[in-house]
Amino acid sequence: MDNNIVSLILKSGKDQSVKRFHPWVFSGAIKKINGPVSEGDLVSVYSNQHEFLGIGHYQPGSIAVRIISFIESIPNKDFWYSKIDNAINLRNKLRLLNNNETNVFRLINAEGDGLPGLIIDYYNGVAVMQMHSVGMYLIREQLAEILKEILGNKFLAVYDKSEKTLPFKANLSNKNGFILGDSENNIVKEYGLQFKIDWESGQKTGFFIDQRENRELLKKYADKRDVLNMFCYTGGFSVYALQGGAKSVHSVDSSARAIDMTEENISINFPDVPNHTSFATDAFDYLKDIKDKYDLIILDPPAFAKHRETLGRALKGYKRINARAFEQIRPGGIVFTFSCSQVVSKEKFREAVFSAAAISGRNVRILNQLTQPADHPVNIYHLEGEYLKGLVLYVE
Ligand code: SAH
Repeated sequence: MDNNIVSLILKSGKDQSVKRFHPWVFSGAIKKINGPVSEGDLVSVYSNQHEFLGIGHYQPGSIAVRIISFIESIPNKDFWYSKIDNAINLRNKLRLLNNNETNVFRLINAEGDGLPGLIIDYYNGVAVMQMHSVGMYLIREQLAEILKEILGNKFLAVYDKSEKTLPFKANLSNKNGFILGDSENNIVKEYGLQFKIDWESGQKTGFFIDQRENRELLKKYADKRDVLNMFCYTGGFSVYALQGGAKSVHSVDSSARAIDMTEENISINFPDVPNHTSFATDAFDYLKDIKDKYDLIILDPPAFAKHRETLGRALKGYKRINARAFEQIRPGGIVFTFSCSQVVSKEKFREAVFSAAAISGRNVRILNQLTQPADHPVNIYHLEGEYLKGLVLYVE
């Protein structure tokens, strides 16, 4: 192996997870680092018996190395090209790349596409990149050129949105902005519906692309129902509910900016629609007294827990909002309920929802079990990547 790359030896017995292709090396597993390393450097990882295990990006912190390759050769341009090409091919097979109805999807899903630390979302030609590791950030321009090369006439620009996602200790003072080309074209289509995207100041890369298939399912349940879309953000579920024939739709979010975006997205798709109203208010307050106004409620809150320490409080939060919905929804009502916290397991989320059902004393049945769509693939050796959990419930 190249002498320019610093090697790192794991403690005895700490090589098992990497041998099973898990892409993270925790700092506590490291016995020795053979030389000076800087944040973002490539390092090679060896077992205590000096077997080669993988090569990855180094970062001081709990996850010390994000493994990029389990093969003993140094990643070069061809390596990155083939990784990105592979991810784009998958989206092509999923019929997302040349699709007249949908031109917004996730192009690179970090570990799920074998590229830990890198998220790229595709907005009708504009690739919005979000780096979570310094290693990926340092090669951003090379990655952008590769995207341009592979996407050809499907490519307009690359926008880097890593200002808030890089480890703050890295002190890179990086700013968001276009790093290749530029574009003002920020209207995208999803299942034929249009959405305006604010990738500059919106949450995540601008849109919750991961709810696409769940929104499409909601459309099928919405006919003639009075719908409440809690935590609506840019109004995705509301637009689909109207498309599905809802009698009325109420959208709630605590952010006034989100409510403005919701209104805008509703009017792009349904000018002068009389049966949509939005409320910029706190969800917990709003849910206190909704009486029996609704027969379809969507609960898609932000990640209540970002760290394990806050798990208990998060579960209480899920229990509370779900109990409120179950207690008040009309008989025969439908609840779409979600958790996008990575630290909340599928089982824990269900337990919280089950307790909420028990508190309400209603008869509740599971109709559908939901997760993230195929353009957010989960690496089978890294199940932490499965973060979105949802249930569709029938409340008698
Ligand atoms: N369902 C949305 C994504 C929801 S993101 C979609 O499909 O696009 C979570 C949203 O919850 C954010 O827009 C945030 O502003 C909002 N939010 C966070 N805390 C809130 C609270 N206490 N009350 C109401 N909204 C809240």
